[in-house]
Amino acid sequence: MARDAVTVRAGRRPGYLVVVGWDFSTEPEFQAQLDWMREFVREEVWPIETVFDELGTEGFERAVAPLKERVRERGLWAAHLPPELGGQGFGQVKLGLMHEILGTSPFAPVVFGNQAPDSGNSEILALAGTEDQKEQWLHPLLAGHLRSAFSMTEPDSAGSDPTLLQTRAVEDSDGWVINGHKWFSTNASVADFLIVMAVTDTEANRYRRASMFIVAADAPGVRILRDVPTMEHPYERYGIHGGHAEVLYEDVRVPKDALLGARGAGFLIAQQRLGPGRIHHCMRWLGVSRRAFDMLCERALSRYSHGSLLAEKQTVQNWIADSAAQMQAARLMTLHAAWKMDTEGASAARQEIALIKFYGAGVLHDVVDRALQAHGSLGYSTDLPLEQMYRFARAARLYDGPDEVHRQSAARQILRGYEAPAGGVPSEHVPSRREAARARFAELLEAVTAND
Ligand SMILES: Cc1cc2nc3c(=O)[nH]c(=O)nc-3n(C[C@H](O)[C@H](O)[C@H](O)COP(=O)(O)OP(=O)(O)OC[C@H]3O[C@@H](n4cnc5c(N)ncnc54)[C@H](O)[C@@H]3O)c2cc1C
Repeated sequence: MARDAVTVRAGRRPGYLVVVGWDFSTEPEFQAQLDWMREFVREEVWPIETVFDELGTEGFERAVAPLKERVRERGLWAAHLPPELGGQGFGQVKLGLMHEILGTSPFAPVVFGNQAPDSGNSEILALAGTEDQKEQWLHPLLAGHLRSAFSMTEPDSAGSDPTLLQTRAVEDSDGWVINGHKWFSTNASVADFLIVMAVTDTEANRYRRASMFIVAADAPGVRILRDVPTMEHPYERYGIHGGHAEVLYEDVRVPKDALLGARGAGFLIAQQRLGPGRIHHCMRWLGVSRRAFDMLCERALSRYSHGSLLAEKQTVQNWIADSAAQMQAARLMTLHAAWKMDTEGASAARQEIALIKFYGAGVLHDVVDRALQAHGSLGYSTDLPLEQMYRFARAARLYDGPDEVHRQSAARQILRGYEAPAGGVPSEHVPSRREAARARFAELLEAVTAND
């Protein structure tokens, strides 16, 4: 019998199977936490979605305060942080599984203390901040007393190539002076402080030119111009949570200790933050995809047209099967990237992370699009959350690096494992291989021919 290299759990191992060090099971205590989360998010957080606008900011805070308390009691608050900062120190696989559940509602990350961009910014501060910076910015951020933004992208330079950044920070005897123009700084219009990426060393290697700074939002010279209207919020509104602000930094003076991490280490710190962030994004997208997929299946079983239910049309069956296959592929790829990061470190997982970023964003887009299509005009209307999911899905192909850049990065890394064939002849070139094989089997071929 063939010896299948599959993993089975101890105690259920048929004699013929070879066990490899690979396991898809979740430890029972953590599975119990995930089960609790799934029910809690569905029962307590999903209902808030439909009355969010009516609640307003204050009402929303009041609605989520007791829920946050329950998350803390359960030991799941800000789980991405190390235990000394009140988190769980969970590895990326566990965090990934949690984010799959949190992704089902835009408000679940808020209730679990890891909403973007505060979660990523708290990681940066935990990673690179001095004790004083942690005291002043990180602890109040974690306690929910402050809000933050990450300010890197600029309207006048390509965000997909941050080595082109134009914002400058110049050192003088008192500290630093920052000048620049940013946009899409999420939450900047409601933030208390911004983490700003600026070029400090124009002559350095392109990846050592930029540094990060902590800038108070009310520092003289910080001008939050507007929240840019987007597919998400098409009408101009200012000061909204989740708004993407355009910001001018005009001779903004910050003290020396506003420098976050080493001078020139801006990209290095950003990379360390972005790896886990992308895994969390991809798992949250799967949470959204699953919700859309459930709607697709429900609709297929209830809508009747041209003599049968949609469930009986092959196109709709293809949508269901393709969506299930794509979601499963994205989930396994993402958890594998998380496992690699946990076991071998962030830089070893770079290729896997590049693959999931564009693949996962595409899966989200496709699944939501099919679910929306299956609902016809109901899907396009705001009577269902699908149109909102669709707008959300479109942005996923841009933020944290557009698809094309991740494809380019993955392809470059893959190509490092190859070299051009000698003389430009493909190594699979059949006539060349045949010639070599004829030389190798000359005796045998001669004997066969002699027998003819
Ligand atoms: C919802 C949302 C939230 C965001 N939040 C933040 C935030 O909090 N802070 C922040 O600093 N930024 C944020 N951004 C900005 C985001 O990171 C940038 O939009 C992104 O990095 C792309 O930069 P860009 O918009 O300047 O596009 P560009 O760099 O101008 O790229 C435009 C297009 O050019 C093509 N392209 C670029 N490079 C290549 C290549 N190598 N090969 C092939 N094609 C290529 C791609 O199709 C790409 O989409 C956010 C964006 C969105 C949509």
